Amino acid sequence: MACIHCRAEAQPRRDGGELSTAEAFGVIDQIVDIGGPILIVTGGDPLMRPDCFEIIERAASRGLRVAFSPSATARCTRAAIERARDAGVSRIQISLDGPDAASHDAFRGVRGSFERTLRILESIQDAGLALQVGTTVSRHSIGRLPEIARLIERFGPVMWSVFFLVPTGRGEASDMVSAEEHEWAFNWLYDAAKTSPYDIRTTAAMAYRRVVIQRRRAEVEQGGGADGKASRLSFPNVAGAGYSFHGEMGMSMKGVNDGDGFAFIDHTGNVCPSGFLPLSAGNLREQPFANIYRGSQLFRDLRDRSLLKGKCAVCEYRPVCGGSRARAYALTGDYLASDPSCVYEPHGGHAAC
Ligand code: SF4
Repeated sequence: MACIHCRAEAQPRRDGGELSTAEAFGVIDQIVDIGGPILIVTGGDPLMRPDCFEIIERAASRGLRVAFSPSATARCTRAAIERARDAGVSRIQISLDGPDAASHDAFRGVRGSFERTLRILESIQDAGLALQVGTTVSRHSIGRLPEIARLIERFGPVMWSVFFLVPTGRGEASDMVSAEEHEWAFNWLYDAAKTSPYDIRTTAAMAYRRVVIQRRRAEVEQGGGADGKASRLSFPNVAGAGYSFHGEMGMSMKGVNDGDGFAFIDHTGNVCPSGFLPLSAGNLREQPFANIYRGSQLFRDLRDRSLLKGKCAVCEYRPVCGGSRARAYALTGDYLASDPSCVYEPHGGHAAC
């Protein structure tokens, strides 16, 4: 793939410094030891690793819930999907960034990707695996969200994961939507989530939680209460930070943020707050995961919301939102700066939410 927004700047050659199978197994053991969070196996394309299914099997056998996010390439065959299922994957995410071949293929940089993606979605449905469809919101796709939302219905996903572009890797700031467009999309997603047959989550859009709370509060004040599916948008489930496993996997994720309930381990063992905040706090070849996650200055800073700057520092939604630390870093160079994609003007306290 040659996706125009690729976080990983993925390329076809293998990195000589990649973690070995034994090292990957060691990483899994450390993840188990830290309390068994959800493990998302992603890339680039994780299917490029010959030991991909061994790694999944190891993680699943150690009791981790494993999500799998392969690229929609020729490697992602029906057999590969069934192998992933048999290895213990609980959910597969596939990206769809447009409602037709012209829009999706232009975004992915590969002609034929749209048709292949639809076939993969069907195969996942046939394999009986929980499907999550991922869509990146950028200036290329924001106007097509309603069409994408309708298209994915036919594949029976459990989740639509809507990622708001962070300009890192190949992603450009000029591809991002404006703060006002973020706000429009948050409100549109809130309304769509009331009737969609799947759950909707956002990634790198922590301010969506603020919009959900504002909208829910306004509805309650108007006496409407929760109608239909809106009743499921209770506060613990407005987190919107990537993968959600409440329901069929029997748990809820709190509202994670970069480095706070979330960490990203790259192919060479560097531990970053997320894939969109490419600062390494240490390497697993030199120190244990728990030490980096719990003790590094970077991760500690990111979990201390009293360190936030600008309007995020005085925002009443700071405890549940905190802004995208990755976007703040990408656009300002300061991971504690306020999130430039949020239109909200705080009232100055943080008790209201
Ligand atoms: S100002 Fe910051 S903390 Fe408040 S809602 Fe916006 S992004 Fe979130």
